[in-house]
This record gives sequence, structure tokens and C-alpha cells, in this order.
Amino acid sequence: MRLILLGPPGAGKGTQAARIVERYGIPHVSTGILLRANVQGGTELGREAQAYMDRGDLVPDSLVNRMVFDRLDSDDARDGFLLDGFPRNPDQAAELDRYLDERGLSLDAVLRFDASPDVLQERILGRAREEGRSDDTEEVVRNRLQVYTTQTAPLEALYAARGLVYQVDAVGEIDDVTERAFAVLDDLDGAA
Ligand code: AMP
Repeated sequence: MRLILLGPPGAGKGTQAARIVERYGIPHVSTGILLRANVQGGTELGREAQAYMDRGDLVPDSLVNRMVFDRLDSDDARDGFLLDGFPRNPDQAAELDRYLDERGLSLDAVLRFDASPDVLQERILGRAREEGRSDDTEEVVRNRLQVYTTQTAPLEALYAARGLVYQVDAVGEIDDVTERAFAVLDDLDGAA
């Protein structure tokens, strides 16, 4: 399966992604995790990306796209993958289309995790206290939510027009959200 997880920061994409990849045996390609590893590892990409991440802005496409497509070229992603945090704007979506088209591949589904702004803000600030992520301060969180609304949310309509979007209610117990996501994906898997 070739999947995209879409949803604002705090919707629980990372947590659900870990469970989905385990069940379906596909690699978890998270641009946030890959970028943070580059920052921690002190790579050139990490050094270039850090200031954008600290502000909650998108890292330039030229840096992110290459990182993602290198990852998707790996053997373990040949038969499927779960993209988490990518694409994040229409240009990235267009580049992903081009990448897949060139290889005769297509997406199976876009899971859209849905939660109200209050729930999101509360969850992210809770995570900040637990994990100490430098981009989880109140001001940066507000910017990340804003960036989602202006740059990433338009992708919902783009993929919906292709009949690929499945809404998953992301409010409630983590296990319940997982069950909702599995229900969607099991249906798709069975239909394949
Ligand atoms: P995330 O863990 O997905 O919330 O990503 C953390 C930060 O990494 C974001 O706030 C952006 O600064 C950067 N980032 C992650 N994915 C992308 C992407 N696809 N394009 C640009 N920047 C990204």
C-alpha cells in the first residue's frame, strides 16, 4: 500500500503511523523524523533546515524533496510506504506525482486525521512538556497550525478530487483512533 497521512500538527499522525506500518509491513517515511535526525547528526541538510523548523515554517522544497525521494528509492519502500508529513504543499504534491508517474506507481489512500483546533493546541503543548521539542512552544505551535491551514490543507481538496481521501476522527482514545484507521485500511487492503 502507498499511503499518505494528512492532518494538522497534534492530530496524532506520528503515533498512528507507527501502528499502521507495523500492521501492514510498510516503512514509515516521516519527514519530521528524518529532518530531526539530520539536525541532531549535524549534517549540512540539518544545518540548513534547523532555522525553519525552529520557527515552525516549512523547510524549502528543494531540501525536503530530495531527502524524501532518496528514502523512497530504498529497497524496503519498493512495495509500499506510509508518508507522514509529506507532501506539505501543492508543489511537493506535484513532485510526488511526478516521482510516482515516472515509476508507473500510484497512491492508494490519503488518511485525513481530523481534530478541532483546541484539541490540537492542547495535545501539542502536552507533548512539549513531555518531549521537550524545540518547535512545541506556544508561538511556534500557532505558526505551525497556521502553516498547515494555508499551505497544507489545500491538499485535502486536491486528493479528494481523485477519490483518495478517507477521514479519520482523531479525537478520543489513541486505541480507538487506531481502530478507525485500521477499519479504513483493511477495507482497502481487502479490495486490492
Ligand atoms: P513534523 O514532525 O512533521 O511536524 O515536522 C516538523 C518540522 O519539520 C515542520 O514544522 C517543518 O519545519 C519541517 N518539515 C517536516 N516535513 C516537511 C515538509 N514536507 N516540507 C517542509 N518542511 C517540513
